[in-house]
Amino acid sequence: MVIVIKKDATRLELFEVQNMVEQIGLDFCINSGTGQKVINILSDATNVDPDVFRGLTAVEKVVRIAAPYKLSARTNHPDDTVVDVNGVKIGGGNFVYIAGPCSVESEESILKIAYEVKASGASILRGGAFKPRTSPYSFQGLKKEGVEYLVKAGRAAKIPVVTEVLGLNHLEYFGDVDMIQIGARNMQNFELIKAVAKTGKPVLLKRGFSATMEEWLMSAEYLLSEGADKVVLCERGIRTFETSTRNTLDLGSVAVAKELTHLPIIVDPSHAAGHNDYVAPLSYAAIGSGADGLMIEVHGDEEPSVSDAAQAVTPQKFAEIVTRGNKILSALKD
Ligand code: PEP
Ligand code: MN
Repeated sequence: MVIVIKKDATRLELFEVQNMVEQIGLDFCINSGTGQKVINILSDATNVDPDVFRGLTAVEKVVRIAAPYKLSARTNHPDDTVVDVNGVKIGGGNFVYIAGPCSVESEESILKIAYEVKASGASILRGGAFKPRTSPYSFQGLKKEGVEYLVKAGRAAKIPVVTEVLGLNHLEYFGDVDMIQIGARNMQNFELIKAVAKTGKPVLLKRGFSATMEEWLMSAEYLLSEGADKVVLCERGIRTFETSTRNTLDLGSVAVAKELTHLPIIVDPSHAAGHNDYVAPLSYAAIGSGADGLMIEVHGDEEPSVSDAAQAVTPQKFAEIVTRGNKILSALKD
C-alpha cells in the first residue's frame, strides 16, 4: 500500500498520517522523489482498510499494490487447487462436466436424467430445488423434496450432486448434498456465504451478473477465510448492453482468473446463452479459454423444462458436446 501525501501538507499533518500508520503497527518508509512525499507501507496491509488514511488532511490518495484477497490469490499459492467433490476432482488439469435440469421437477425425471447425463460423460449432477426466480408467480422449485429427489437420484446413478442454496434457513436440508451452489444473485450475500463455508462442503460460487473479478474473488475470500477449502468459481455471463444472448459470456474472466487465483473456474454456457442453439459453441469456446469444467442445463425433450426451457439442451446434444469437448481438450494437451 502506498499513501500519497498532498504537496501542500504541513509537517504536522504528515505527522498525523505517520502516527496512524504506527498505531496500526505497520512498517513504512517515506520517499520524497519529485517534491511529493509518499509513505510506502512495507508490511502486509491486506487487512487494513485504506479509508482509515483517506480521511486524514494530508492524504491525497491511497493506492493498494497487493490484491485485497490473499487466500484466493495465486501469488500466495502458486499451484492450482484441486477440489474434490466426493471423489470427482476439479482443477489442476482435471476437467469436469456438470449436467442436469434447471429445476428438479419430479423424482422420476431427475432419476432418468441422472442416468442419461452420467452415461454421456457428466461426473456431477445438477438440479435446482430452491429456485431464484425473477417473478414470484413462476415455479419456485420443489424445495426440500427437490433436494431429496436430487440426492436420491445421484446416489442411485452413483454421481455427486450440486444444488443451489437460497437462504440460511434452508441449509439444514443440504446435509447430503455433495456441493453447494451460491448463485449469481447471492454472490454478495455475505451471511449466506459465511454459513455455507461453515458446512465444510465444496462450494460452487457463481459470478454475480454485475460483479467485477475483484468483487467475485473477494466473495471467494469470504468462503476461504471462513474455513471453506473447496471453492470452485463459475462464470455464467454478465449483464451488458447486448440483448441477443441472455448474458454476455465473459471468457476473459477465465483467462484472468487463471492468473489471479489458484481456484478452479468452470463455465456455465446455459445461463450465458439463454438459448440452446448457442450452448455448444459457447461450451467449446469455454474449453478453449482454459476453463476447468462446464455446467450445462440438460432436459429431456418429451416435455419442456418448467424453468429456463429455451436454454436446455437434450441429453443427445449434451452427449455430442462432451464428445467434441473432449476432442478439444486433448488437442489442447498436445
Ligand atoms: C442456476 O444455475 O440454476 C442459476 C439460477 O444460475 P445463476 O445463479 O447463474 O443465474
Ligand atoms: Mn436455470
